[in-house]
Parts: sequence; structure tokens; C-alpha cells
Amino acid sequence: MTGLRTRAVHGGRQDLGGLGVHAPPIDLSTTYPVPDQAAGGAALGAWAEGVADAGSPVYARLHNPTVARFERALAELEGTEQAVSFASGMAALTAVVQAACLMTGRRHVVAVRPLYGGSDHLLGTGLLGAETSYTDAAGIAEALRPDTGLVVLETPANPNLDLADLDDVVHQAGAVPVLVDNTFATPVLQNPAAHGAAYVLHSGTKYLGGHGDVLGGVVACRAEAAAPLRQLRILTGAVLHPLAGYLLHRGLATLPLRVEAAQRSASELADRLAAHSGVAAVRYPGLSGSPLLGGQLRGPGAMLAFEPVGDPLAVVGKLGLITPAVSLGSVDTLIEHPASLTHRLVGPAGLAAGGVPAGLLRLSVGLEDVADLWDDLDQALRVSC
Ligand SMILES: *Cc1c(COP(=O)(O)O)cnc(C)c1O
Repeated sequence: MTGLRTRAVHGGRQDLGGLGVHAPPIDLSTTYPVPDQAAGGAALGAWAEGVADAGSPVYARLHNPTVARFERALAELEGTEQAVSFASGMAALTAVVQAACLMTGRRHVVAVRPLYGGSDHLLGTGLLGAETSYTDAAGIAEALRPDTGLVVLETPANPNLDLADLDDVVHQAGAVPVLVDNTFATPVLQNPAAHGAAYVLHSGTKYLGGHGDVLGGVVACRAEAAAPLRQLRILTGAVLHPLAGYLLHRGLATLPLRVEAAQRSASELADRLAAHSGVAAVRYPGLSGSPLLGGQLRGPGAMLAFEPVGDPLAVVGKLGLITPAVSLGSVDTLIEHPASLTHRLVGPAGLAAGGVPAGLLRLSVGLEDVADLWDDLDQALRVSC
């Protein structure tokens, strides 16, 4: 297999030379002519069963060739047979719960905290018809029931950067499929499918798109797991728009370079924050001494979290360069207070159970000069303590 950077640049583009074009074509059709209606009907029937290719798309909710290019490219990066994209990361999680729990009748989910606030809340509400038990990474085996259809976790976890040993998680889960949300690590730093994860989920909105201008989600998995996801996507209509598919695909080409550059800055900022008198604690895989770093997780990444000594909201208010905003993985550095924003709906008890301190700030390190980022953080932390 070719190297990661090569796959990032060439994935999903192998046929372009034959087409005589350099950039992937964007197909915005909502419907497709089917002069042979019997053949169109056969294609429609095949799509509805979740096949990866049935010839004519017939209708845009069934299939889109621009989106399919992004999916092939992402699957190459994750080392899976296929990938299925959705309108957002939340739509992707919804589809996996529907496929693994509702379609099988095994309606119990084991969720390892902490999770992205939206994921935690969606699973907790029971809105999808599944019942969720929350636990920690060591408690998965104990939380399983005969009707458990899915184990859900993040590593590194949003927002506190907790790490979990995927080999151990998959071992504990036994026959139950494991969904790993790989949004923080990206396929550049971690490939959960190689450790036995059945579903590898990304909020493409974050690093894959990488420029803060596209919403999308994707699940990388084996062909047999992808078919029900495509069936569901056709029925529920949670499709990725082709323009979004184009932007996500374009984002993949620079993903390794963006992650590597932001990671260098994050490592330096984590070291400096850990030595700052205005900082009580820093969460960063590079500082954790975890044996998983260098193995399962090939680099510490560009996400970090820290607890200021003073009021975290005052620190955010003093920042000038760093953008005070939710989301992550963009070209600019973003900071937010999870207890107020991304993880608000999890509530204090849920956050405490997941090891998320109330005063924690989450920092998504971008591509600015690290000296400028440090100057901004340093002045904000000084005035507050
Ligand atoms: C943002 C995020 C999601 C949700 O993705 P959307 O694209 O916003 O729907 C899921 N998981 C993680 C880890 C996230 O950061």
C-alpha cells in the first residue's frame, strides 16, 4: 500500500485521467434520465438494498457520484472496505444506532464517557428507541447485556482527551460491534478498524473539511456493515450534499500536512501551558505518558484542554487572536468552555462521571504561528490570575 500522504492526495481520483479532467466533477443532479425504465427500476431496487454501485443513480437520495468519491478516498485512509457519508456527524451516529440496534432488535447501547455532548445527549434521550448505559472504558464488559447492540466510545475523547486502549475495548465487547468516533485523531494518527472497531465515525465538519465551511459525517466500515447504512440513508434522507462531498474530498488531500503542522504547535503550547502559573492542569496525550502513544495513537494530535487557575470564561474573554467558538479542526485556533457550550446538555453529573472538570477549556490548535498563539494565551492567563 502507498503512503498516507500519497493516498490522501490520490484517493478517489484514480479515474480522473481517463475522464480527461484534473479536479473531480461535481454532479448536482437530483434526478437522472432512465429511458429504459425497467433497467432504472432494477437499479432503484438494488440501491434500496444498500449496494455500493448499481449503475444509474436514478435519484439523488439514492446515490451521488461526487459523494461516492469522497467515501472511497476516506475508506482508503481508514483502511476499510467502504465508507458511507451523511449530512453531519450526528446523522452518521444516528444511522449506526439504527443499523446496529433498531435493525437487529438489540436495543441496548453501552457508551463510554466522555463523549461529544451531542452524542451523549442523543444516546441519553432514548429518542432513537435505544436504551443507553454509560460507563468508563474499564467497565464495558460489565455493562454488556444480552440485548446490547453497540458499544460507543471516543479516543482521544471530547473534551478531556481521555485515551482508551482499543484492543482491550474490542476484547471486552466480544461479539458486540464497537463504534469508535475518530474525529479527534483523524485517520492520520489512528485507524480504529485495524484494532477491530466495526464502525469508525468522523464528524467531517472538523478536520476532514478542515476549513470551517462544510458540515458532514462519515462512517468507515466493512462492506457488510455499509449496506444497511446506505439503506437507512436512502430511507431517512440524511444524505451528504454533493458540494459538501466535494469539499470534504478536497480537504483530505491536505489532511496529513494540516494535522502534522497543528500537532507541532499543540505540543509546544501544551508544554508551555503546563509550566504556566495561571494554569492548574493540562490534558494532552503528549503529556499523559500513555503507552498508547506511538502505537495505537501515532501522534498526540492538535486538540488539548486545560484548567485555568482563574475564571475560564474570563480567560476566553481576554483572548484576541484565538477564536472563541465551538467546533474544531479548522485552520484557525478555536477555544470553548465545554460545560457552557458543547457539553452543556450533558449536565454537571454526566460531566463529572466522564471526568470533565467544570472549569475545563478546550483548545483546537490551528495553523497560525505558534509564537502568536502563545502570546495571546499568555496575556489572557496573566490578567486572570
Ligand atoms: C462535532 C462532533 C460530532 C458531531 O458532528 P456534527 O458534524 O457536528 O454533527 C461528533 N463527534 C465528535 C467527537 C465531534 O467533535
